[in-house]
Amino acid sequence: MTKLHEEFVKYGANAKRWLRQCALLLPEIARQEIWRKKGFGSIYEYAAKLAGMSKSQVDTALWVVRAVEDKPELKKVVEEKGINCVKPIVAIATKETASFWAEKATEMSQHDLEIYAKEYKSDFLRGEKTEQIEMSLDPAVADQLRKMKGNRDWNTFMKELMDGQPKPEPAQTKQVPTRIKNTVRARTNGICSYPNCHKPAEELHHANRQALNPTHNPNHIHALCKSHHHLAHHSLIANEERQPHEWRLLAYPDKTNPKYQVDRLVQKYRSP
Ligand SMILES: [Zn+2]
Repeated sequence: MTKLHEEFVKYGANAKRWLRQCALLLPEIARQEIWRKKGFGSIYEYAAKLAGMSKSQVDTALWVVRAVEDKPELKKVVEEKGINCVKPIVAIATKETASFWAEKATEMSQHDLEIYAKEYKSDFLRGEKTEQIEMSLDPAVADQLRKMKGNRDWNTFMKELMDGQPKPEPAQTKQVPTRIKNTVRARTNGICSYPNCHKPAEELHHANRQALNPTHNPNHIHALCKSHHHLAHHSLIANEERQPHEWRLLAYPDKTNPKYQVDRLVQKYRSP
């Protein structure tokens, strides 16, 4: 059984490698219309009959390879790791940021890179913004709320209100006590606490890293979806010791932070 599996893995790896080579040649084949000269109806027919590539594989190959043509750092990643590894970021990478993205594409899995690129777009590529929330309140409640707010601005007031919720005492136990788990999950109603994420929270994240600080402090434990938990352990969230509305995406991990060492170990444990 193991032998069969090993053989499959070996051939599979080879097949992937050769398909990668085919994909790299496609843009030039398209440019010179070699498919036409060889009697095929289209580049799709050419790639399907000669290499078993699907239409979407061809489209992706043409798009990605062309997009990295003037970005040598990313081109190298494509040549070494394949087209899919850079797919999540080709649309946002520029000549100036190509080496930055090449590094990220080398370090992260395709899925983690997708999540990072999404947060990058909302954190770095969009300006400051505010959001209007309309509420229908009982006039007495509205009045009370305005009095509580005083002359602070609404943002400051709402943040204080969120921070001021009653919390259970921190605990030193091995497992996170149920009362802390419940409080943490209830804070976002079982939804991931990463800003603007609405996926169900699947994991509890110790923002102070349990290995460095074995206390379970509900202020520093957050319910996250799997993707954002991964992002946290790529050491790419700044202000983690504060509440999620103050978290910011980092371009690079802070390697002087002791958390970084812990996260490297987490990565190593995670990779197959
Ligand atoms: Zn999330």
